[in-house]
Amino acid sequence: MSNAHRARKRFGQNFLNNDQTIQRLVSAISPQKADRLLEIGPGLAAMTEPLMARVEKMEVIELDRDLIAGLTKFDPSGDRLIIHQGDALKFDFSTTSSPRRVVGNLPYNISTPIIFHLLDSLEHIVDMHFMLQKEVVDRICAAPGERHFGRLSAMVQSQCSAISLFEINPQNFTPAPKVISAFMRLTPHAQPLVAQSLRPNFAKMVKCAFTQPRKTLANNLKKTLDVTQIEALGIDPTTRPQNLTIDNLVKLAECL
Ligand code: SAM
Repeated sequence: MSNAHRARKRFGQNFLNNDQTIQRLVSAISPQKADRLLEIGPGLAAMTEPLMARVEKMEVIELDRDLIAGLTKFDPSGDRLIIHQGDALKFDFSTTSSPRRVVGNLPYNISTPIIFHLLDSLEHIVDMHFMLQKEVVDRICAAPGERHFGRLSAMVQSQCSAISLFEINPQNFTPAPKVISAFMRLTPHAQPLVAQSLRPNFAKMVKCAFTQPRKTLANNLKKTLDVTQIEALGIDPTTRPQNLTIDNLVKLAECL
């Protein structure tokens, strides 16, 4: 790792420093030569370099201008490493001839908005592998009925299958973050669980249903649907939102 770059907190910079851990991440991604890899936040190229060794060509999006020169060195001709300097939140992931595999040790301060931004372009994405705060991974991957199941789980799982792969301790980063991290995989559903046209209502319903997670569904929906309407869908109005399945939420959204 270059010692010249001082990690910037505002860009969520915690650089991976352990080769074994990096190899573990690369193995979990399992890149194939022809894959169209796109890495969000390559930083000092801790993951980029071993990933580049496995594929013909890859792309990166990096916001910090000061890191761009260092990245250019890995491929001075620019044939194998395509560098986009800019904000991943503004990047148009739909402009691609073939679907991409997206990876990244994400800046934790904006990891959820980045994932939501990607959910809008899933038809152009094969899969996603991300390092995030473990607490966020737990919320994304929780199954209905589990303690962490909530709005984030429902929104992500309505479009992707989500699995937590393994945890990573803070000592694997420089500077060390204050939280434990986890590496996860998101794979878009082959058959969408929520029709494109229903997505706005689904998002509204999820927001409403989880307004007060400890209250009953009927209580959270009192301004939206009455008890009879909820019962007519075969859903118990006294259930807590944490126990709803994606299928329940789809049915409720269809009633809006
Ligand atoms: N991949 C490197 C590693 O694992 O060592 C760096 C990971 S660091 C947690 C996050 C990286 O994302 C930094 O390089 C940071 O500059 C970059 N970054 C922060 N905000 C970004 C944004 N909005 N768009 C693209 N990259 C961003």
